[in-house]
Amino acid sequence: MSELRDLYQEVILEHSKHPRNFRFPDPSTHVGEGYNPLCGDRLTLKLRLGDDGRIEDIGFQGSGCAISTASASTLTEVLMGKTADEAHALFKAFHDVVTGENAMPDPDALGKLAVFAGVSAYPMRVKCATLAWHTLEQALEGGAQPATTE
Ligand code: ZN
Repeated sequence: MSELRDLYQEVILEHSKHPRNFRFPDPSTHVGEGYNPLCGDRLTLKLRLGDDGRIEDIGFQGSGCAISTASASTLTEVLMGKTADEAHALFKAFHDVVTGENAMPDPDALGKLAVFAGVSAYPMRVKCATLAWHTLEQALEGGAQPATTE
């Protein structure tokens, strides 16, 4: 448990216990299904893209470990009102942080996503943290294939 305790910073714990936007938008225009076989995390992400190209609403359902749930929860919070291009850019920044490629995340650019920087010390957990983001990419690309972290 010490590995998990180290990882479970306050924000991650709080989001895993009380995930934000843990419901589906109605109506929704895009859907993605994500599965991380290494940990057993599963989630479905739905969003509604408005005529102006911005995400009007986004939410998820599923079950997974605390990190995957907290990541999906924070994802829905930071992406509300963003464009698909902005979402791709945030994923890139988030990915760099959790994989340790960017050891000094810019808190202004990442917001609360920066709390996931601790995940970089645990390669097994990177897939948990990025599952929701892979699922988002899949949803934005049309949702034809289930997203997997493999
Ligand atoms: Zn997990």
